[in-house]
Amino acid sequence: MFWEKYTYSQIKSKVFESLSKNTNYRTENIIGIPGTFLDTDIFYDDAPFLKDAPFLSTLIANPNHIGVHTLGDEHEDFFAGTHEIEKDLLKICAEEIFGAEPHSYDGYVASGGTEANIEALWIYRNFYLQEHQAKMSEIAVVYSADTHYSIPKALDLLCIKGIELAVDQTSRQILIKDFEQKIEAALAKGVKYFIININMSTTMFGSVDDIDSITSFLNLLYINYKLHIDGAYGGFIFPFTNTNNSFNFKNKNITSFSIDGHKMLQAPYGTGIFLIRKEYMKYVCTNEAGYVKGKDYTLCGSRSGANAVCVWMILRIHGSVGWTVKMHQLVDRTTSICEKLDEWNVKYFRHPNLNIVTIRANYMSRELSMKYHLVPDNHENPEWYKIVVMPHVKQGIIDNFLSELKNEQKQLSK
Ligand SMILES: *Cc1c(COP(=O)(O)O)cnc(C)c1O
Repeated sequence: MFWEKYTYSQIKSKVFESLSKNTNYRTENIIGIPGTFLDTDIFYDDAPFLKDAPFLSTLIANPNHIGVHTLGDEHEDFFAGTHEIEKDLLKICAEEIFGAEPHSYDGYVASGGTEANIEALWIYRNFYLQEHQAKMSEIAVVYSADTHYSIPKALDLLCIKGIELAVDQTSRQILIKDFEQKIEAALAKGVKYFIININMSTTMFGSVDDIDSITSFLNLLYINYKLHIDGAYGGFIFPFTNTNNSFNFKNKNITSFSIDGHKMLQAPYGTGIFLIRKEYMKYVCTNEAGYVKGKDYTLCGSRSGANAVCVWMILRIHGSVGWTVKMHQLVDRTTSICEKLDEWNVKYFRHPNLNIVTIRANYMSRELSMKYHLVPDNHENPEWYKIVVMPHVKQGIIDNFLSELKNEQKQLSK
């Protein structure tokens, strides 16, 4: 995995160069589209700092990245300049982070992990309907009980059946026996086509599903399946802190990934990234999108080019080496919390390559959890509270929390 680090001035000149290749609402004859620059009463474009602010300048120029630009053939050419930046961003994610061969994937910057997950399930549902003449009752989505709620949301929207798998309460791993039994029961009931969601880190625990045991069972039984990786949470950290894993496009069992820029990467909201092997986007082509050159294959339609530019800028200012260091720092800080918890025999779950510590609720008062804004697994009857070691979670605040937690343990043991 390698992508080059650029200096701020290199980034600036690349962004301004691509903006100059976009169609300019101020200087060109554009009278046919319902788009324009941002309102000038509030976003005046002669603010002197803008020449040093590539992201804000992109935001104000307001390029629309509607459609999917990796498809190669036809697409909107109004904003070809910033489309190139989005393509470089997708190239970094697909080829460098997830080991894809050049030109072997498609993707786009979606509104978030939710949209990227829905897009994946939408594609696979249509793939089975079109290629296998499947009936809706023959398709099912399989996912663990710790899966993000965007998957049940997608099932509701897409009218697909779901199969939820139980997890071990301590290791948070899918119970393989439960998985095997539920697959066999579904087959017996006439389900023929499976869509498997695998978490490359869950939101609540930071647990990573055991993809290899899941796929070896499915392959052994010659089951028809498509497998999506939900890396919305872990996508920008796990591949950097655990370089030897099966979560990449070299793994033939995987077809798509979701990764969120607006979590670990500190990008603004609206930066979920969807990646999928070539020849799959066509199953969600909306042919009725007649006015969009090259048609539309996304769930969202119009989307801001500034979002893609921003994620690209963040990845480029760090380079792969800098980003790896930064993610290791988060993991190390998380480890230091766990060392204290071990010392005090406080029970928790933590994956060694991730920055989440989920503590059993009975080791902490509700007041303490509220004081530090820990998030419970559910608000009615919490069993767990989690700490997410984001970049703003510095050692000082961790130390304060730990010392209060320790005092509570002393009180409890009296
Ligand atoms: C956050 C998250 C999502 C949903 O992402 P949004 O960006 O909030 O739409 C999906 N899956 C996982 C594992 C997540 O952590």
